[in-house]
Amino acid sequence: MMNADLHCHSTVSDGAFAPAEVARRAQAGGVTLWALTDHDEIGGQVEAREAAEALGMQYLSGVEISVTWASRTIHIVGLHVDPACQALVEGLERTRNGRAARAEAIGEQLEAFGIPDAYEGALKFVSNPDMISRTHFARFMVENGYAENTQDVFNRFLGDGKPCCVAHRWSKLADAVKWIQLAGGEAVIAHPGRYAYTQTQFDALFGEFIDLGGKAIEVVTGSHTPDQYREYADVARRFGFEASRGSDFHAAGEGRVELGSLPPLPSDLKPVWERWL
Ligand code: AMP
Ligand code: MN
Ligand code: MN
Ligand code: MN
Repeated sequence: MMNADLHCHSTVSDGAFAPAEVARRAQAGGVTLWALTDHDEIGGQVEAREAAEALGMQYLSGVEISVTWASRTIHIVGLHVDPACQALVEGLERTRNGRAARAEAIGEQLEAFGIPDAYEGALKFVSNPDMISRTHFARFMVENGYAENTQDVFNRFLGDGKPCCVAHRWSKLADAVKWIQLAGGEAVIAHPGRYAYTQTQFDALFGEFIDLGGKAIEVVTGSHTPDQYREYADVARRFGFEASRGSDFHAAGEGRVELGSLPPLPSDLKPVWERWL
């Protein structure tokens, strides 16, 4: 049976392992169809594909784009994107711009909460200086005893709406979907269960996404609870979305699930990956 894991991260964004090591762990976890989906970056795609193919996994090129919609951050996964597509490369570059200044502002916020030198500390966890993220701050804070684990950091300091989360304007939904389409891929709404929208806003988001040509949402993801697998399976049925599945793996023991270990999609849903097999 196909074990698809189409959402995870490497050191190219906020994951703890290099793309080839993530590939090795995916294969060890039983994954047969894999996509590395770093935040706003496709610099790991060549290494990921080569490693996947050497290990006998099928591979889809991927990315997870940061988008601002109705004043909140959402993530759009692009699958089967050509990493050489100029529109995508330039769009991602513009999306990453501003991360450095935002990170300095996060450092200042943390300082005001009695946590000094966090910007410098977070940088020590960054391998790609363009891609400093809240996760790197979280790792710094855990290592220095300010929190039990990274989830604790997000709950108390850095999660959306928490005191040290610096608001940021990311890309527009229409642009992110367009770059993915120009690169020959399909856009997927990542972990919809994480967004604090009202029912009306969700309906508007899904409607706008469909109008832009979006066809799929994540249903079974490490960023959903089992209740949310059921809730978003129903959303997929109601809106006619295809479904995706992915661990959202970042580091060993950091998230809820390991690579390849999620339950399968409900059997009546159409997997987004079938079109490419
Ligand atoms: P950034 O792109 O800098 O805003 O960081 C976003 C990353 O932080 C996400 O991809 C997750 O890895 C992590 N993250 C954000 N919110 C949470 C949360 N509430 N719980 C755990 N991790 C989170
Ligand atoms: Mn992340
Ligand atoms: Mn995400
Ligand atoms: Mn992710």
